[in-house]
Amino acid sequence: MDSLSFTDKPHAVCVPYPAQGHINPMLMLAKILHHRGFHITFVNTEFNHKRLLKSRGPRALDGLPSFRFETIPDGLPPTDADATQDILSLCDSTRKKCLPFFKQLLHKLNDSSSTSDAPPVSCIVSDGCMSFTLDAAEELGVPEVLFWTPSACGFLGYVHYRQLMEKGYTPLKDESDLTNGYLDTVIDWIPAMEGIRLRDLPSFIRTTDPNFIMLDFLLIETERARKTSAIIVNTFDDLEHEVLDALNSMLPPVYSVGPLHLVLNHYVHDNELRQIGSNLWKEEPRCLQWLDSKQPNSVVYVNFGSITVMTSNQLIEFAWGLANSKQPFLWVIRPDLVGGESAVVPAEFVEETKDRGLLTTWCPQEQVLSHPSIGGFLTHSGWNSTIESASAGVPMICWPFFADQQTNCWYSRTKWGVGMEIDNDAKRDEVESLVREIIKGEKGKEMKKKAMKWKGKAEESIANPEGSSFRNLDKMIQVLLSPRV
Ligand code: UDP
Repeated sequence: MDSLSFTDKPHAVCVPYPAQGHINPMLMLAKILHHRGFHITFVNTEFNHKRLLKSRGPRALDGLPSFRFETIPDGLPPTDADATQDILSLCDSTRKKCLPFFKQLLHKLNDSSSTSDAPPVSCIVSDGCMSFTLDAAEELGVPEVLFWTPSACGFLGYVHYRQLMEKGYTPLKDESDLTNGYLDTVIDWIPAMEGIRLRDLPSFIRTTDPNFIMLDFLLIETERARKTSAIIVNTFDDLEHEVLDALNSMLPPVYSVGPLHLVLNHYVHDNELRQIGSNLWKEEPRCLQWLDSKQPNSVVYVNFGSITVMTSNQLIEFAWGLANSKQPFLWVIRPDLVGGESAVVPAEFVEETKDRGLLTTWCPQEQVLSHPSIGGFLTHSGWNSTIESASAGVPMICWPFFADQQTNCWYSRTKWGVGMEIDNDAKRDEVESLVREIIKGEKGKEMKKKAMKWKGKAEESIANPEGSSFRNLDKMIQVLLSPRV
């Protein structure tokens, strides 16, 4: 990729939604834009800024002269907690409270009397769930691109929330609809989703409350997506072709620009830039050496991302399922994985599996997934995890928790052939048999083949100059460099 040759660099302000699965892809995109000649201001919330300093050290957010970090408050009461914030409160708060703080920040960045030698803000790249930024872009007269960080299929599900309400599918009539088979109703009118069941759509429709914050939030945010100059998604055309066509028929141009981690690894080699990280938990890199000692395709990697919580009973079922499978495993257990208490696995389990299991609290996932010893991934089907896994050629056992994860699981299983679903109330026997299947069984082999096919397609999509994501990144950059229309 060539750099832009402007005396006055374009200046992109990048605003992620303040959760791990949103900050990571936005930071990757910001680095790619920097590599393409943009001055970057990356905006974290004060809460996450503090956490990043804690997890990565005091110099972690010094940035570079042309890659700066700034903060805004998230609007929630201040706290020193070192755990995942409540997503409902955070959505409500960012939507209602962040705009004035963000406008103040833009004002500061454009203040010509300040000592900063940064060029004036020329464009905004914002998370789709932080669409208050559109008002600020309009006031400033600069173009904005919205980055929807779920899968394109998850985003398509959210875009249909309005119709699902109008047709009476949600809110549910009463709580019994959660268990009486109602969620198995097949929805046959959403394009590119033929045969999907209500239970496979993004999970916030599973409510009896017509004023449920997340329903309301997504209705508003998807509606506002119509007002932007362009939308980007971290996927690639071959994987979600029909879904992208459907989105493009309803919204401003939707560009697939992923997998962003492959773009970054392939094109951006500046060491200082690569050092800038975004993990809110401290990484434990020793697991990579441990993986070196294992046979190819033998280890099951278990990680439920940054938000999922489970009961301690569930944790115990997963533990004994893994132990009984007799397969080597790497299991990442966040300190706040179990709701309301600290996550502790039984001492007998640790003793029994000490020769073949490694437990840790946070790992460099991208490197783990591309390690040759990884044979399968037991995942919550978060979008970043899903695309990182598929593009590393690793098949998945899917245990979706919430949001677009149910939809990612359905596509992984039925369309992409890289996933098997595990029951929500997973018991140790099922865990054991699916772990064995993914590492040693026929179905596991078949899924591995498909995953390797997607790995190849993902690499093709970022190739210069003919890859679809490569070309779409150029189109997105053109939108950011053009005058606002
Ligand atoms: N991640 C990581 N190490 C871990 C767990 C997660 O680096 O131990 C990263 C992972 O690579 C992904 C992100 O955190 O980029 C999690 O995003 P995802 O969409 O999969 O799930 P979420 O956390 O949003 O539920």
